[in-house]
Amino acid sequence: MPDIAIIGSGPAGYYTAEAALKTWGDAARIDIIDRLPVPYGLIRSGVAPDHQSIKGVARRFETTALADNVRFCGNVEVGRDIGIADLAQCYDAVVLATGAPMDRPLDVPGGDLGNVFGSAAFVGWYNGHPDFAWVKPDLSHGTAVIIGMGNVALDCARILAKTRAEFEGSDIVGHALGWLDAGNLSRIVILGRRGAQQIMMTPKELGELGQLAQAMPRVDPADLPPLETDSELEPGARKSLAALRSFVANHGAMIPGMVPIDFVFCSAPHALIGDAAGNVTAIDVEETRLDAGRPVGTGVIRRIPAALVISCIGYRTSPIADVPYDVREGRFANVDGFIQPGLYCVGWARRGPSGTIGTNRPDGFGVVDRIAADFAAAAARGALPAKSGRAGFDALVRSRGLVVISFEDWKRIETAETDRARADAPREKFVVVEDMIAARDIAPS
Ligand code: NAP
Repeated sequence: MPDIAIIGSGPAGYYTAEAALKTWGDAARIDIIDRLPVPYGLIRSGVAPDHQSIKGVARRFETTALADNVRFCGNVEVGRDIGIADLAQCYDAVVLATGAPMDRPLDVPGGDLGNVFGSAAFVGWYNGHPDFAWVKPDLSHGTAVIIGMGNVALDCARILAKTRAEFEGSDIVGHALGWLDAGNLSRIVILGRRGAQQIMMTPKELGELGQLAQAMPRVDPADLPPLETDSELEPGARKSLAALRSFVANHGAMIPGMVPIDFVFCSAPHALIGDAAGNVTAIDVEETRLDAGRPVGTGVIRRIPAALVISCIGYRTSPIADVPYDVREGRFANVDGFIQPGLYCVGWARRGPSGTIGTNRPDGFGVVDRIAADFAAAAARGALPAKSGRAGFDALVRSRGLVVISFEDWKRIETAETDRARADAPREKFVVVEDMIAARDIAPS
């Protein structure tokens, strides 16, 4: 029965492990390898800190993690500490569930100005991802422009707009909470290159924007299509448009103490403008018209003041040496999760950055079906290559002097994070890898 390595311990990784357990029960050995010492990927570092109910899916993954034949091997980076070819020596199947942690680049002049961030960096900062602990956005004044009209843009707008009290019960990291609390933005703009009917935002998340204590979403009625055309939309899009229609009531309103969150449609980023110190001061946008649903520039350029820019325009998978990569799509080159014999991918690494956490479940089951079929076919041909299995992996990491963090270690880190939490928070995450590892050594088990 197969030895399987799953690279990445986010939802795609754990749903794949769950599927493998359903398929082979105790007979398979499943190692989940992650470059961080802590599990759960996007659940920990991507899902917004004030969406604790979504983060609750980690409890389901813990059931899988605690199965006798499943291991967590944290703090091992595939492609740096250990190669794909190394893993192929050990495991019958290697499944890349590495997500899409890099920002899709904002391809306009001025993208490298100060106080311009991609959503991977900004979200990673407020969620305590070690790669982005350095991010210190200047929130002291002016307008924040958020580019993109997906749910990540909504997350960023909401996090910027919330008061300290509204973070009660969240696990936003202390460094970001203090920074946001000291901020003094006067306006937030959410910028879309297409129209109100083409937003990627979902109704529930839009609804949250209308409930904020000290910010109010505003939509210009002139930007909305006639009401009678709503019936042409599928139900989700219709509900999202209904949410936008409800924001029209705030159009033009200026309420002292309320930060306006303005939706600006049909405006594509054209250039970012900076000052002598190299910090962004404005964004030039080109007005667009829609041609068969696609945005086409009209040549009309407008300038919107911007003291902070966050680009939320999608993500790309990080390439790994020796793994075929589809540069255009920004993910591994694959056919339905199959990359090459013994190598597979799931989740955003397979299909790109779309869908909800739950979308990864069928993905995981699909790739396990494929592995099972390939494994059975090879066995029938008598062509199953011998693998060194877990013993081979353990020998490799030992020989390279790697510190591997187990699930039991993670539980100690988790205890330490819970112990040091603010009174109104479930945890205070460690944001430095060395601190995570040190916490494993000092926390009581
Ligand atoms: P998304 O839903 O694909 O939205 C990306 C946005 O960026 C779109 O509005 C897109 O516009 C725009 N965009 C892309 N390239 C652009 C460019 N060059 N210039 C200007 N705008 C550009 O992606 P996302 O917001 O990153 O979310 C990723 C996935 O995670 C989605 O499936 C999302 O629903 C999910 N998610 C869910 C939640 C939740 O359920 N609470 C929270 C966060 C994320 P066009 O449409 O014109 O391409």
